[in-house]
Amino acid sequence: MRPRAIVVGSGAGGATAARALQGTFDVTVLEAGGAFRPLSFDLGTIERLKRSRLLFDPRLIRVPFPAMHARRTPEGMVIVNGSCVGGTTTIATGNGLRMDQDLRDLGLDLDEEFEEVGREIPISTGHRRGWHATTRRLFDVFEELGLDPVPMPKMGDPERCRHCGRCVLGCPEGAKWDARRFVQDAVRLGARVVTRANVQRLVVEGGAATGVVAIEGLRRRFHPADLVVLAAGGLGTPPILERSGISCDRTLFVDPILTVAGRRSRAWQCKEIEMPFVAQRDGFILSPYFDYLSYLLEATWKAPARDLVGVMIKIADSNAGAVSAAGVEKGLSGTDRSRLDEGVAFCREILLRFGIEDGRTFPGTLNAGHPGGTVPLTEAEMTTMHPSRLPENVYIADATLLPQALGNPPILTIVAIAKRVARVCVEQVTTPA
Ligand SMILES: Cc1cc2nc3c(=O)[nH]c(=O)nc-3n(C[C@H](O)[C@H](O)[C@H](O)COP(=O)(O)OP(=O)(O)OC[C@H]3O[C@@H](n4cnc5c(N)ncnc54)[C@H](O)[C@@H]3O)c2cc1C
Ligand code: SF4
Repeated sequence: MRPRAIVVGSGAGGATAARALQGTFDVTVLEAGGAFRPLSFDLGTIERLKRSRLLFDPRLIRVPFPAMHARRTPEGMVIVNGSCVGGTTTIATGNGLRMDQDLRDLGLDLDEEFEEVGREIPISTGHRRGWHATTRRLFDVFEELGLDPVPMPKMGDPERCRHCGRCVLGCPEGAKWDARRFVQDAVRLGARVVTRANVQRLVVEGGAATGVVAIEGLRRRFHPADLVVLAAGGLGTPPILERSGISCDRTLFVDPILTVAGRRSRAWQCKEIEMPFVAQRDGFILSPYFDYLSYLLEATWKAPARDLVGVMIKIADSNAGAVSAAGVEKGLSGTDRSRLDEGVAFCREILLRFGIEDGRTFPGTLNAGHPGGTVPLTEAEMTTMHPSRLPENVYIADATLLPQALGNPPILTIVAIAKRVARVCVEQVTTPA
């Protein structure tokens, strides 16, 4: 009989780990959310929803769109994640960048894993062929300002992309890659997925986990395991550890973003692939973005969607914040604020050159969707991939392990880390003692 592995969460890290572990282990994936369904509302319905002001609280977004969870921190930042099979990758914009320099500096060489990722996930900038006039003009403006923009590598199939702009609402064309593909692979290999299984805590005896307890509907259920891989994401893994008596650090990062927008008649940025290109600056990135979250939440974003043009700043924030079963605490440090101010100045300049009148730009909602960093891997743990505070047969395979904010798309890096974690776990079973 094969040893049993429980993988908690089916996002970037969980799906990768489940796929790699199945075969050596009998894998059961426990996922708190249900099957993913894209938001089906058309633009007209979304505009009516905005005008109704029914979405005065970001938590209400999950009523029409159950996969998207959003909440405001006491400090005023809206933090977003996906809760469904495929996790946050289902509502991601499909950006695929390798961002492992910090890990490499600590001694973790993920070259082999990234080579595998390159064979398994199609990544291309072929979407550039379909860019609309607004995007082409914005690209020229970025170049004129010396910002060195480059087309964003996207995970998926550019031939199927219709440039509909709905990436964060769930790709209706199946053009965007998301982690459900790895979940399907794992299931084909024999893994089991239990949805709406909200894992509460580990059960630990004598320094090792014997399984996990999950709430499934009205039931509390024990799932026995020989190996537990926690991949509930940067917001999901810490509360499970806390309820298991294992503390996490107050080093949460989230990569805050702010979109500055202006009005330009029939710009139709809302019908363009999200984040088509990117400019890397010191500590932040700039990218064109139609920000649905700000559009829905901000009363000042009054223009019809077709007339809005936005540019986003995403910063690599300080490791200062906490997540627990009680909620998320996250504000901006002084450095974060000055990075954001610098980015806002660039956005205004870009929009001005694009043709939006000076003084007629408006900021959106400060929000974030790359949480992690509260059980950061240390140099000493790079070989074992096992944080010393965990029971011996419990691993983490998600953004929780990242030592620093990337200020950039993390999915590929999380996938590579999860592959390494799974490899370590497989080798423990297959390598003779
Ligand atoms: C709007 C948006 C756009 C983004 N775009 C990009 C992009 O273009 N490129 C990129 O690289 N990154 C992007 N990101 C970030 C990226 O999607 C996430 O950083 C990444 O998916 C995190 O992977 P993860 O495995 O750590 O967690 P997740 O993918 O969030 O997966 C965690 C899973 O665990 C489940 N879970 C949580 N708690 C429990 C529990 N107690 N029991 C059982 N299951 C649980 C959740 O339901 C979820 O399915 C975006 C994020 C957002 C919000
Ligand atoms: S623009 Fe539309 S078709 Fe293209 S990846 Fe995004 S959601 Fe899919």
